[in-house]
Amino acid sequence: MIVCFDCDTVQQLDKLERGFCMRCICCNGRLLMNPKGGLDTPLALIVSAIIFFIIANSYPLMTMGISGLSHTTMLFGVALGFVDENQLGLALLVGMTIIIAPLLIILAMFYVLVSVRFKLRLPLTKMALVWIVRLQPWGMMDVFLLGAIVAFIKLTGQSDVIFGIGFYALSALIISYAGAIVTFEPYLVWEYLDEHQ
Ligand SMILES: [Zn+2]
Repeated sequence: MIVCFDCDTVQQLDKLERGFCMRCICCNGRLLMNPKGGLDTPLALIVSAIIFFIIANSYPLMTMGISGLSHTTMLFGVALGFVDENQLGLALLVGMTIIIAPLLIILAMFYVLVSVRFKLRLPLTKMALVWIVRLQPWGMMDVFLLGAIVAFIKLTGQSDVIFGIGFYALSALIISYAGAIVTFEPYLVWEYLDEHQ
């Protein structure tokens, strides 16, 4: 059985063939989707996200030059900057939303996708799937990137700001990550887990 997200109508769930979408009998809202690419598309995107995550955290985000002095910032340096100002709570919050939560979500998605796509029956797959949903509100890399762009626009004229490789990797990471979330159809995973575990 499945409940429509839009109108709460309870309906019987049928086997959904590849490339088809199931719609609500009352409001025509989308209930489930079985994409043609199956889980290959989100898996490819999440592997890209892992690579971009490593690059984004290994290279400078941006370099700022004021009056002959230059300062280079890494992604984790943004959170550490609040530690230097004795704002531990804020440092923890920033670190959680731009590094820890996105990393945990990406790794959990990779684990679930590999487990289901290659039929490996890895332990704790269901738990990882639940935690992907629970952690999603904490992943705010896109909000951070938007803030960084606004700061860049405001600082133009007062200082020289040069974006580093980390910034471009972070942009690519956000696109891959968002693509993986959008193409990830939990129905396919739950169906497999119900049949095999
Ligand atoms: Zn409906």
